Amino acid sequence: MNAPHPNTPPTPTVFDTRHVDPELLTAERVVVVGYGSQGRAHALNLRDAGAHVRVALRPGGPSWAQAEADGWSPVTVAEAVPEATVVMVLAPDMRQRELFEQQLRDHLQAGALLLFAHGFAVHYGEVNPPDSVDVALVAPKGPGGLVRRQYTEGKGVPCLMAVHQDATGRAHARTLAYAHGVGGTRAGVLETSFGEETETDLFGEQAVLCGGVTELVTAGFETLTDAGYAPEVAYFECLHELKLIVDLLHEGGLARMHEFVSETAQYGDLTRGPRVVDQRVRENMKAVLTEIQNGEFARQWLAEDREGRVNYEALMRRDLEHPMETVGAQLRARMSWLQGGERA
Ligand code: NAD
Ligand code: MG
Repeated sequence: MNAPHPNTPPTPTVFDTRHVDPELLTAERVVVVGYGSQGRAHALNLRDAGAHVRVALRPGGPSWAQAEADGWSPVTVAEAVPEATVVMVLAPDMRQRELFEQQLRDHLQAGALLLFAHGFAVHYGEVNPPDSVDVALVAPKGPGGLVRRQYTEGKGVPCLMAVHQDATGRAHARTLAYAHGVGGTRAGVLETSFGEETETDLFGEQAVLCGGVTELVTAGFETLTDAGYAPEVAYFECLHELKLIVDLLHEGGLARMHEFVSETAQYGDLTRGPRVVDQRVRENMKAVLTEIQNGEFARQWLAEDREGRVNYEALMRRDLEHPMETVGAQLRARMSWLQGGERA
């Protein structure tokens, strides 16, 4: 056995179905606020788990018709919240301050459990709940479409849970029961804090999952096409094939990936990978993490959203107009099985 990796942190507590009292869930009156990616998945899974659920939305908002099509009778937030013992806030993070101030704070029952799927609003002080309620989070580690699909297949997306405020003395058990209702206990529910969930989630999407991967793919594509290789070949190599590798990593970590690629690929990975993602990349990651920890990222994004998202829209256009997108659309058109897949 090798010595443990020097960065090995303490193991967090993981809960599963054996730790849950399902009657705690069925005794609650749950209101899910918002019916987007997470809202739809939570509401449908909880309903299937036998919970008493209502969906609360803005009248005339875009999700109202979708909720009705799924068999809900949506109600307004102000109407639903006074009766609720659990309120799950699944509106966009940037809107939660206004939603809370205008429609939640003065309508929450004492002893209600106020839940979030991301710690952002509470951690950065956008939402300051009253002392009379339990405050916790249940954050599925996957997009809403997957949270729903896995549940219907008898599986579950792992979740993080954290208790920020325990007014009733039962916040932990109630939160775990909710995580069970969305399917999280099937895969495991890890206990964390609002700070750790928020900061690691933002870091993951910025440095690795969304920002990191897309920049790596784009840089690889540009390096090949700048050197005169065909864009179609570069697309297959740097973007299309990524799924194969990611699936192997997802199923069995580094070991499984190494098992399925050639020894030539293994040697190239081991000797060239650290040259591409080098010490400077780690320093950049550290700088990005610092802006998350000191609130700079949150302040910037909330201001961008408030001021009309001009910079965000321009950057998004630049991403979507990249030649890799054009060639990718042409190549994917030949693969009918990639079309019309369900939305994440
Ligand atoms: P979304 O944008 O897909 O959906 C937001 C929903 O809220 C929509 O139904 C919208 O109509 C509604 N809404 C907007 N403003 C509202 C208001 N003022 N009052 C009531 N409803 C309002 O959002 P999402 O991606 O599901 O994110 C919801 C929460 O889940 C966020 O806290 C997010 O960080 C968290 N989360 C998302 C994911 C994900 O994969 N999308 C994963 C984990 C956690
Ligand atoms: Mg995330």
